[in-house]
Formats: sequence, structure tokens, C-alpha cells
Amino acid sequence: MKKTFFAVPILSRFSLFIAAAVILTSCGKYARSLDGYIKEGAPSNKEWSISADETLITKQSYKNFILKGQARTEEGSEASLYFHLEAQKSGYEVVLRNGPIDGSIKSGSLLAVRNLYRSLAEDGEWFDFEIAVRDKNVVISINGTNVVWYTEPMTPYRTLIHEHKRIGEGPIAVRGKSGKVEFRGLQIEPLPLDARNIDDVEMPVNERTDGVIRFQQKNFPVIDYHVHLKGGLTKDMAYDMSLRYGINYGVAPNAGEGGVGRMLADDKEVYEYYDEVKDMPFLRGVQGEGRRWTHTFSQEALNKFDYLFTDAMTIVDPKGRISRIYRPEEVHYDGMSKEEYMDYLVDQTVKILTNEPADIYANPTYLPQDMQADYDTYWTNERINKVLDVLVEHGIALEINAGLRLPSTKIIRMAKERGIKFTFGSNNANANFGKLEYCFEAVNACRLTKEDMWFPTMSRRAERKVVLYNNFEPIGK
Ligand SMILES: [Zn+2]
Repeated sequence: MKKTFFAVPILSRFSLFIAAAVILTSCGKYARSLDGYIKEGAPSNKEWSISADETLITKQSYKNFILKGQARTEEGSEASLYFHLEAQKSGYEVVLRNGPIDGSIKSGSLLAVRNLYRSLAEDGEWFDFEIAVRDKNVVISINGTNVVWYTEPMTPYRTLIHEHKRIGEGPIAVRGKSGKVEFRGLQIEPLPLDARNIDDVEMPVNERTDGVIRFQQKNFPVIDYHVHLKGGLTKDMAYDMSLRYGINYGVAPNAGEGGVGRMLADDKEVYEYYDEVKDMPFLRGVQGEGRRWTHTFSQEALNKFDYLFTDAMTIVDPKGRISRIYRPEEVHYDGMSKEEYMDYLVDQTVKILTNEPADIYANPTYLPQDMQADYDTYWTNERINKVLDVLVEHGIALEINAGLRLPSTKIIRMAKERGIKFTFGSNNANANFGKLEYCFEAVNACRLTKEDMWFPTMSRRAERKVVLYNNFEPIGK
């Protein structure tokens, strides 16, 4: 038997209140009542704030409800809203925290189930939040945009410390985590016991086999930085998939030329695209495509994005031709042995990463099709280290690419050893792509931790110089 002291159904409301209060105030401060600050049917006119370790809790118990209100954080401040608190149990926790994308869990997250890494709200500004709980379905919105849509399956996956994050019934609480968080206008609408979200029509994710929930439960960031709107994937579809799978998507257009799908051609198109996606609940990325992008776009335009990545799948070959090495017809060995070609490819990769200020080396260590079977032979330690040297020198992250299953776990281990940070990326060709399976395998195989992961606050690209190292005709600008 687990350490559950009470059988919940026979508890009075009052003892529920006490029990939950004891849990939430481990520092000894007694919880204040939250009831006076939440009104039924209309927004409360009270404005109040909470500091670290303070807790307010309702005497009233709720099952299905819609809770709305406004909050305001300051730099580094954080509070949580809890619902379905039960005796000796924790219930679900909704995080309120804003600020830059630094790996901290952001506003609207359903903690350890649907963690979010970019907030749609800003420190210092009042923002709207709403939590709707209808049967097993939880919808959380920030500033009017749904950021969590979670339906608890029949058999949810929970680790021991999160085993009580379950749909039930109980009081609502607010707890300060750090700094000061202000609240106003809290309003609750209790809903009938049989309330349902009629828009929740899909089968919930099967958590008995799902990889995402296993990483969410560890509070390991689940972010796919390399999602392209191409092959029929629209931004609305990507948004739905992100909510449904519980994966934070970084959506990135290709800026430059020669790739597949949507291509931004100049600064004007970059700004237009940015305005189109800036308020969507994605991380906002951009991929430098082809080898002319550093000539074509201003740093000012590109630096609006949360992050920028590029790859070495397009090189300038020894005869000066642009060669997309993922197209066999563009790979010209020109009398070179494969070993010589490999040396050339490594040199090109080093040049690209030295001269083009990217945050992330994407599609890493990709080889032309007819060399792929001997990947481990071509990627010698010496060649691997040449590439890793550049990543270390410029603080560039190494993408673990789910679509291509690259780089090998051997290279990931060598990179970790050298302190290089990682991102996950799919590089999807259409709407039918996976849920970061290879990334999760690699994390487990290479024992990566959250500390090994890269976040946009680590970006060094704004300080780097653009070096025009290929002699292209200036175009675009
Ligand atoms: Zn891509």
C-alpha cells in the first residue's frame, strides 16, 4: 500500500482543505483562503499578489470548471495554480512564468505532462489565463490562445513523484514559487458533473507506449526545433499536432534558395513571415538555406527569430558549383576518391560553421547516398573532432535529427564529452512525421540530461561576424 492516509470520498470538505493545505505549505506558513478572491459568475474585483512559498486555497471543491483571470509576473517570478487537489496528494499544476526561452517551464504548462518553453505573455504585463476542465479534458489558454489541450487517457503514464497528477476533484490553490506574482479578476464557472468538451473528438494519446510523456514526466524539454511548413503541413495543422502530441514545435521557413518548400527570398519576406507567425504558440526559427543566405539577408532581419540553423547538405564543390549532396545527380566526385571527397566535405562543413553565424548545426554529418552505408568508416575520430572543434569554438548546438537518425550515438557521446549542447529536430518533408523517436533513443543511449540541451538564451550568433567566404555575386539585398 502507498502512503495514502485517508480514503478521499469520506472526507469532509474541511478536512480536504486542511490536508491539501498541509501539503502546500511545507515551510510551515498556513494557507490563506482563496475563496474571497474567486467569484462565481463574474470577475472578482480584488487585486492581490503572492510571494514565494505563500499559498491560497479554496475551501470549495471543484470537479469540472472554467477558471479565468489575469496575472502579472516580474522578471524571474513564478506561481502555480493547482486543481483537483486531494488529501495527501498534489493534483495537477499549471505554471505561470514568463521571460526568455532559457529552458524554464512557461505560462500555461500543465506541469510534467505538457511543459511549454515559450510563453505567450511578457513579464510586467497583465495577461489572461484560462483553465477549462471537463471530464478528462484540460484546456489551458494564455492571452486567448490555447496552449495546452490534454485529455487524460484511461491508463496515463505517471512516474512515482507525479502519480497524483490525475483527474479527480478537489480544491483550487495558488502558490508562489519565486518573486511576486499579481492576480486580478479571478472568476470561476463550476460545470455539471457530466460536462464534456464537445470539440475533444480525437482518441487520447496512448501513454502506455508514448515516448513524449516519458520525457515530459522527467521535465526534460521536448522541443522539435526543425519543423517546416511544407508537403501539405499548414501552420494550423502543426499547431494541432503540437497540442495533441505534447511537443513544442519550432517552426522554421527556409531563407535562401535551392531547398524544398517555402523559401524566403529577401528581408521583406523574412519580416512578413515573422509577423505572420510571431503570435502563434511556436518557437520561431529560420533555416539558412543554400550558401548565399549570409549575402542575401541582413543580420537585423534574421536576428528577430528565436534561433537560426543551417546545415552542410549544400556545399560549393571544388569546381565552384553549388552541390546539394542529398541529390545524387549533383554529387560530382570528379576523379576524387571517396576518402578525398569526405575530406573535402568535412572542410566545407568547417567553413560553413566558421563563417555563417548559425545557432544550430542541423542535419549533421549527412553523407551523399552512396556513402551512407559506410558512415562509421568515413566519420573517423579525426574528422569528427574537426567539426566538433568549430561547434565548441562558436558555441553552436548539434541537432539530433529524428528524420535522418543523425548523428550517430558515437558522435553524440563525443560531443557531450566536449560540452556541446544539443537540440532535437525532425526536418519533416510533409505532415506525416514522427514524434522525435530517434532523439529520445539517443538521449537514453548517451545519457544526456536537461543540462546538455541548448536554448535560445545561449545564442551567440548576434555577436558573430558574417564572413563572406564564397565569391558569389551579391544578390537580393
Ligand atoms: Zn530543414
